[in-house]
Amino acid sequence: MKIAVCASEVVPFAKTGGLADVAGALPVELEALGHEVVIIMPRYKAIQEPKFKIQKLKEGVSYSVTGKKIKVYFIENEAYFNRDGLYGDKAGDYKDNLDRFSCYSNGALDLLKEINFKADIIHCHDWQSALVLIYLKTHKRDDPFYRDTRTVFTIHNIGYQGLFPKDEFPKLGIGWEYFNMEKLEFYDKINLLKGGMVFSDIINTVSPTYAKEIQTKEFGYGLEGVLGKRKRDVFGILNGLDYSIWNPETDKFIAKNFSLKNIEGKNVDKADLQKICGLPVDAKIPLFGVVSRLAEQKGFDILAEAIEKICRMKLQLVILGTGDMKYHTLLGDIAKKYPKVVSLHLKFDDTLAHKIYAGSDIFLMPSKYEPCGLGQLISMSYGTIPLVFKTGGLADTVTTHDGFVFDKYKSADLIKTLEKAVKAFKDQNEWLKLMRKAMQNNFSWKESAKDYISLYEKAKSKSR
Ligand code: ADP
Repeated sequence: MKIAVCASEVVPFAKTGGLADVAGALPVELEALGHEVVIIMPRYKAIQEPKFKIQKLKEGVSYSVTGKKIKVYFIENEAYFNRDGLYGDKAGDYKDNLDRFSCYSNGALDLLKEINFKADIIHCHDWQSALVLIYLKTHKRDDPFYRDTRTVFTIHNIGYQGLFPKDEFPKLGIGWEYFNMEKLEFYDKINLLKGGMVFSDIINTVSPTYAKEIQTKEFGYGLEGVLGKRKRDVFGILNGLDYSIWNPETDKFIAKNFSLKNIEGKNVDKADLQKICGLPVDAKIPLFGVVSRLAEQKGFDILAEAIEKICRMKLQLVILGTGDMKYHTLLGDIAKKYPKVVSLHLKFDDTLAHKIYAGSDIFLMPSKYEPCGLGQLISMSYGTIPLVFKTGGLADTVTTHDGFVFDKYKSADLIKTLEKAVKAFKDQNEWLKLMRKAMQNNFSWKESAKDYISLYEKAKSKSR
């Protein structure tokens, strides 16, 4: 199959979140399965390192290579993309994001034609590349070049929709007949994510449970009705984990490597983590780790309610994250009050993240909603037992056989589940079994890539 991936961020070139991991890893697996893949993304200011070996294709387009020989094309535009941020800066979202991603989307479609890449599938991700799907079914509809091309649209988080004022609509170059409730309009605004949902052949999200959840009022952020109308075309495929990065056997950041067969090394990592975090070095006390954006989505509202009680339990808690100022302040106060219990790190720190995944006993991830989630997958591969709320990808990947799961989103239930974990930790033989069970999981991209191929086949069978 010929597959064109359109994404606004792709590892290793640019990343703000999980979308970049998917857009970077999936094409490599698809190529390994024998498919022909190209990737198209904007050329941000940061994409200039010599290691990327970027070459010029023509005015406004350059390229690099990933995987074996996947071309990654960069749509260039000095005014729109040569900036520090991908979507915004400290002041918020860039005001001209509609112009920026319209430029990118038109550029991507024109490029496919110029390089004569007649894609069987164009696979778009999130609102930033939704205009590719919209243009294909509007002003490019009658272009014979795209006649046999079908589309897949992946939603990574339905909370981010790409909303713009109505008066910017003429910039899209499509008629006002597309600005209505059935198409791009959302409460008198332009909604690009909605447009992507309406105009794609197949829609998917990053876990089966989240695919169901977003069709409900509670999780749909107002788009549940749009998805409901297309429910036969909505699917969920779990993200994979990049085991070349997240593997306790080969991890260069941790004090001692370990594996399923040689699990004792993890004790060294725990002691190392306690030491660098200024916590008492004690193998017997359960050590909870958090690596997360500090946001309500990640469960910090109930964690904040529960934190005093948690700090009075017999445990230690290491938190690494940045995000909402209110949680910076609240956790800062708690860390000061309980210095022997809580070690707080308000920053983005990849090395420390690896050490927390490896050195903790339990990984705390009580997300209110979670499209897929990476933290729980990483922690399991390091034998660190996840404690999660039963939602989205967490519900699909963590069970009571390899983790701790609560199913009512209340601080009291969070506390109860922590108590359960603390108690379970006392029986070291049982705990070892739990660790082994968690480490035996395999969330590799290989399986997910095969599922995507099935989805592409479904899209291909759609009539135009
Ligand atoms: P998100 O919704 O933020 O994308 P995921 O669980 O899918 O959540 O992925 C988050 C990724 O970012 C994980 O790999 C996690 O380890 C990493 N991460 C989050 N916060 C930090 C931080 N402060 N420092 C280092 N890595 C972090």
